[in-house]
Amino acid sequence: MTKVAKDTVARVHYTGTFPDSGEEFDTSRNGEPLTFLVGHKGMIPGFERELMGATTGDSRSFTLEPEDAYGHPSDELVQEVPRQMFPEDMPIDLGMMLMSDAGPLRIVAITEETVRCDFNNPMAGKTLHFEVEVVEVRAATADELAHGHVHGPGGHQHEEEKGDCCSNDGCC
Ligand SMILES: [Zn+2]
Repeated sequence: MTKVAKDTVARVHYTGTFPDSGEEFDTSRNGEPLTFLVGHKGMIPGFERELMGATTGDSRSFTLEPEDAYGHPSDELVQEVPRQMFPEDMPIDLGMMLMSDAGPLRIVAITEETVRCDFNNPMAGKTLHFEVEVVEVRAATADELAHGHVHGPGGHQHEEEKGDCCSNDGCC
């Protein structure tokens, strides 16, 4: 039986909670399993490390410190952006999440001249607990390894949902 290792494709069901409160922040249980190419930086590092050696039907339960998950928030990722960079008719509110060319950002302060934008991942600095069940493990195909992502069912992960990157122009 194939075990989770670099260059395998893993399909897993997972539920993530904050260990302090027990609050659930994400789960695959109400949809398709999460499918990812192992060892190609598609996942947070600790998540893959904890699954190494697991096979179909195995369950894993683990808690990740921020350095094994989304890292620590950085002051350098909080930037003052001139107000005129935002379209005039765009509503801007404190705490709002926006998508920008540089990735998602959260508005943390607003003055007449500037908007302070926090580009840190909202999960940065957080300790995360995961319950994971391995649904399937298989060897990756040569194409998948060349492209650095999974093809076929479940192959469109969060970053790739916007376009069909393998059949249109795009990354391949
Ligand atoms: Zn591809």
